[in-house]
Amino acid sequence: MPSARAPRGTRDLLPDERAAFARLESIARDLAARYGYREIETPIFEQAGVIERGVGEATDVVEKELFRLAPRSDERETWVLRPEATAGIVRAYVQHGLQTWPQPVKVSLVGPMFRYDRPQAGRYRQFWQWDVEAIGDPGPAVDAEQIDLGLRFYHEAGLADVDVLLNSIGDGACRPDYVAELTGYFARHEARLPDLEAARLQTNPLRLLDSKDPAMGALIAAAPRIGDHLCGACAAHFAAVRVHLDALGVRYRVEPTLVRGLDYYTRTAFEYYRRGAEGQQQALGGGGRYDGLVEVLGGRPTPGIGFALGLDRTVLALAEADPSAVVAAPAPLAVVVGADPAATVDRLRVAGLLRAERLAVRAELGQRKLGRQLEAASRERAHFAVILGDELADGQVRLKDLLAGTQRTVALADLAGELRRADSRHRHGEAV
Ligand code: AMP
Repeated sequence: MPSARAPRGTRDLLPDERAAFARLESIARDLAARYGYREIETPIFEQAGVIERGVGEATDVVEKELFRLAPRSDERETWVLRPEATAGIVRAYVQHGLQTWPQPVKVSLVGPMFRYDRPQAGRYRQFWQWDVEAIGDPGPAVDAEQIDLGLRFYHEAGLADVDVLLNSIGDGACRPDYVAELTGYFARHEARLPDLEAARLQTNPLRLLDSKDPAMGALIAAAPRIGDHLCGACAAHFAAVRVHLDALGVRYRVEPTLVRGLDYYTRTAFEYYRRGAEGQQQALGGGGRYDGLVEVLGGRPTPGIGFALGLDRTVLALAEADPSAVVAAPAPLAVVVGADPAATVDRLRVAGLLRAERLAVRAELGQRKLGRQLEAASRERAHFAVILGDELADGQVRLKDLLAGTQRTVALADLAGELRRADSRHRHGEAV
């Protein structure tokens, strides 16, 4: 084993695996555009305070999982690698005065996130998310639109069996009373709380409902439910989200213990799971409303909602669902080879002509014999070999269809057109 390795909890995505990610990214970008979300890019690191306030001090992500960058002696700012995208996007919304744009501002981002988590399958220290945010719309229609958008991503990616879990976590009007009741309930059972949960009872009691500690199962099941404590406005909002989902034909299950335990998260909360995998703390994605967040990051009170879907877990779920459906890195359409191993200038020149015509072409730049050059082209699943020989002097080349095993002579001037036509016939399933 070489001593230089990728850091623990990170992975190299080699070309075939990268192709699986690229496929998901292109589905995400395409869907974002179809739903009216425009792309945004924010830095991979942010001022620590943006993430600490934007994600919440009393969360696992901030308490235990932040990658903090070692400060330089001449810098006053301290930075952290972003663990999620919402805080950075909301920071950008406030910083650039996006509240003066037509509302809502709907943006989408695909990129790497960083959490110092204990690495295991589906849990990495660098992972990729597709993040979608609609800032400036109080809902409820946009809540339903986003839930539908996330579900459509999984369907288009090829995962049909994804469940939506849905809840409302109330707002500043109704949640404090509920949290007080919940705190009282858990406090009465404090002796049964594991250490971590006992500590959370002080800082963020809602998070106890999230606990996957088996010792908590029975306590959580009997705990008071936020759904029974929603104020009129929150109950009406939740009902309206569900009316919209029903009308769209989006199936969901109300999960009373689904929470996002911070003051500025409000009302709608949702998660996506592979059917039957709800117990494993491995959501494929999740999101929710954050009507207080813009204000926390220095803007005017502005409602917002967003979600983040994990690409890594989607790739894993796809491989589990159908191990034969492997995505491979794209092969070149053609490889330019030659009878004279030394004639690399000719091969580069012809490849250059084809590349200028926007065709994906590899030129054989080694000095091996023609037979070896052709073997290599077949191995990389190229469709054609363009074989250069003496006839190049008359402006002609041989075009070998490596899939069909046929070969013919083609004028150099017609080569790009021939390749393009043959390729599109092949894609349409006709014999060439
Ligand atoms: P969260 O912001 O925690 O709700 O995460 C949203 C989604 O990001 C999750 O449902 C996962 O798909 C993905 N995700 C979060 N943390 C990790 C991680 N450590 N490794 C891989 N994927 C993750």
